[in-house]
Amino acid sequence: MSASIDRAREVLRQVWGYSDFRGRQAEVVDTVANGGDALVLMPTGGGKSLCYQVPALMRSGTAIVISPLISLMQDQVATLLQLGVRAAYLSSSLDLHEARAIETQLLDGSLDLLYMAPERMVTARNLALLSRVPISLFAIDEAHCVSQWGHDFRADYLGLSVLAEQFPDVPRLALTATADLRTRADIARLLKLDHAPVFLSSFDRPNIYYRILPRLNAMDQLTDFIRREHPQDAGIVYCLSRAKTERVAAALVKQGFPALVYHAGLSPAERESNQTRFLREEGIIVVATIAFGMGIDKPNVRFVAHLDLPKSLEAYYQETGRAGRDGLPSTVSLFYGLQDVIKHQQMLAQSNGSEEHKRHERRRIDAMLQLCETTACRRQLLLRYFDEHMPEPCGHCDVCTEPVATWDATEPARMALSAVYRTGQRYGVEYAVEVLSGKRSDRVLSNAHEQLAVFGQGVHLSLKAWRSIYRQLLAHGLLLVDADGYGTLRLAPECRPLLKGEVSLQLRKDRDTASSQRSSKPS
Ligand code: ADP
Ligand code: ZN
Repeated sequence: MSASIDRAREVLRQVWGYSDFRGRQAEVVDTVANGGDALVLMPTGGGKSLCYQVPALMRSGTAIVISPLISLMQDQVATLLQLGVRAAYLSSSLDLHEARAIETQLLDGSLDLLYMAPERMVTARNLALLSRVPISLFAIDEAHCVSQWGHDFRADYLGLSVLAEQFPDVPRLALTATADLRTRADIARLLKLDHAPVFLSSFDRPNIYYRILPRLNAMDQLTDFIRREHPQDAGIVYCLSRAKTERVAAALVKQGFPALVYHAGLSPAERESNQTRFLREEGIIVVATIAFGMGIDKPNVRFVAHLDLPKSLEAYYQETGRAGRDGLPSTVSLFYGLQDVIKHQQMLAQSNGSEEHKRHERRRIDAMLQLCETTACRRQLLLRYFDEHMPEPCGHCDVCTEPVATWDATEPARMALSAVYRTGQRYGVEYAVEVLSGKRSDRVLSNAHEQLAVFGQGVHLSLKAWRSIYRQLLAHGLLLVDADGYGTLRLAPECRPLLKGEVSLQLRKDRDTASSQRSSKPS
């Protein structure tokens, strides 16, 4: 490291009042302050902003920060102005007059940082404007938006490759909290940062306790969890649909919890007001779709609960990462069930992207399901996905603190597969369970399936046990769901060795007497 790092520390102390850099901030700041490019992969809350804000104040000229969300830009600019830093943003929310005033400031050299959205950045007019002023650096925030494989793809990010050509002497740094190898490679290639050093921080969030439980009665499980572990604490409850957020929030309110909803169907005023209450008041619970989160910087969120399965580990990591940004103990609980697995398999079957895209999607979903069904440390598995090796189990996740019992499910699994096969691979889980448990329902009788050898072969196990077996068979990819939208099951080629008796199968014993499920009613 060079002498510039001392100057950087001084800026950090004088402007922000912080005593020192954290993690890899110092290295990044040093690199960029000396004119180098950088690719920064840091978890949410890791302190990415300072990586470009400090060098912006050390180098001459204006730093251009490209950010995808207006609310994010507004927050950052407001904070910087409070600190006495000359910052502004250009966005479509400004009228022509305001925008012109900021452009004048830029031309006068009286801005240290200027934020703008990617779609504005790449316009010919803007590029011409920027070519007339000294630029200290380009910071590309949320850089994973350039990758089509991620969930936040924005076509305008692709246009940012122009920066390398038009401003070859200006350092560029790309920042993201998404660290899987594929996205990382995309960022480096598409933003022309192939030769830039990569600064990868640990993605471990040691203060977060991870828990994943089979969903029995979601509302009971949720309220029980909040009451026992986080009464009066602020938290976020994620659901997949708007309708469900409304239902869950209403149910929480009825039980005396201060819950609000947040989803893209609310009016801007409602969204704003709910978000503000969450940020300002103590102990508010927001029940939200994934629309809620990007840019929410509330340090003392004590818990995050998921009532539906996130669609990838990246999404899970980002959403759970909103808990405990202040470093204090926090809990994340995911409640997931058979329906989630069916829904995801179905979406996969119905997706009409390229074969490569489908394979990629499958890997993403498989990784998420693997985390749910694992009998090993959750944190080890999560970090391994981000290419980080954790030598020992963490001791701070549900699998570590309450080891999972497994059982030899070879025989029942074969029965479950055979029930699907013998009924012609034309039905869903519930039908197969009816046949196995010997239920003479109208539909079973009308198909004469009570005459099958598998009929009633599974009476020794409960309906719940069978559903758990099917869930795990689906999660392990031994069964597939058709694209028909009815949850029709089909055998996967991978189940052959099991059917032929060549391999055995260990499955998780679902915990339903464990801490978070004590008061659950049978569903
Ligand atoms: P990210 O963008 O990576 O999610 P931020 O840049 O918003 O993270 O930083 C998260 C929080 O940590 C902010 O409140 C920030 O002020 C604080 N922070 C970052 N770096 C430091 C530091 N070196 N010392 C003290 N606080 C820091
Ligand atoms: Zn663990």
